[in-house]
Amino acid sequence: MAPRKLAAGNWKMNGDLAALDQIAMIGDAGASCDVLICPPAPLLVPMIAGAGPVKIGAQDCHAEDAGAHTGDISAVLLRDLGASHVIVGHSERRADHAETDAMVCAKAAAAHRAGLVAIICLGETEAERDDGRTLDVIATQLAGSLPEGATAANSVIAYEPVWAIGTGRTPSLDQIAEVHALLRDRLVARLADGADVALLYGGSVKPGNATEIFAVPHVDGALVGGASLKAADFIPIIAALD
Ligand code: PEP
Repeated sequence: MAPRKLAAGNWKMNGDLAALDQIAMIGDAGASCDVLICPPAPLLVPMIAGAGPVKIGAQDCHAEDAGAHTGDISAVLLRDLGASHVIVGHSERRADHAETDAMVCAKAAAAHRAGLVAIICLGETEAERDDGRTLDVIATQLAGSLPEGATAANSVIAYEPVWAIGTGRTPSLDQIAEVHALLRDRLVARLADGADVALLYGGSVKPGNATEIFAVPHVDGALVGGASLKAADFIPIIAALD
């Protein structure tokens, strides 16, 4: 089995009810790869109702299944609503909410218990890359963020250099290849089906650079922020993967 290709959109704190028609347009494009949109939480229910072939996921979940955690959302509820995936450990949450690898690991485990696919995000800062520490940082984040029980069926890894997110800058193709090769090696060493875990690249993916990024070995798709908000931008990225 080869990793399943996945084009995933992270809408972050963008979008509204009027944006539902973008989902319909993306679905009508008829991709054969998996296509996922992760909207803000209040849009999950209407989007799931109108998603058609597009999978709908969340941008975060709590590490516990229920309890006194005002404002948080459990993976159990996300699954109950019909979500298929949840992003955990996005660099914006690691930075804005001081999420550690251990916290990300606990959230991914909660996603697995609930029957969700966890998209576990990893990425170096610009200072870490400039210091030549990228591979160490990525290996450490993977080791600390991937829970016991992870499989190719319940886990996706997204390599997202922090300095490439929303900046219009991307690593060279060789730099992406180096990190994805490391991720594949570590996953194969740790999981029986590590060769089949989908590895996404994220960070300023656009219609103009998607084809060359998807040609990099061990890049099985993308996690896309800004260019996933409009069907007109996201559909060509999906087509480049398909
Ligand atoms: C992201 O937020 O995961 C992301 C990759 O954003 P962008 O595509 O806008 O760089």
